[in-house]
Amino acid sequence: MYEPYVKHSIMKELIKKWQTYLDLLDWTIVTKRIDPKQVMYNGETYFIGISADIDTLCGIIYHDIDLYEEAILHELLHVRYPNKSEEWIVNKTDEILNEHDELCSTKTERK
Ligand SMILES: [Zn+2]
Repeated sequence: MYEPYVKHSIMKELIKKWQTYLDLLDWTIVTKRIDPKQVMYNGETYFIGISADIDTLCGIIYHDIDLYEEAILHELLHVRYPNKSEEWIVNKTDEILNEHDELCSTKTERK
């Protein structure tokens, strides 16, 4: 129930967080909402994808649903590891998110 501008700034923060984690801070990452009518769906019900230009270090995340943290990390991993397979990226995303969960719960236990 966030106002759109709040949502947008949270999204920016998440992008910044994972850009920092993946050492991609020299990249400019922007997001673009697209019209579902413009998308060729291959059986998927939504679209999230990134186009990354290695010369200008610009990445555009295209999406037709609201972005969420896992999707942002996933797309940034494509930028970080452009030659890895989709499956590898999916597994890596899970691995990193699980690691972070553990770090957070360890911190909470120490309190
Ligand atoms: Zn992917």
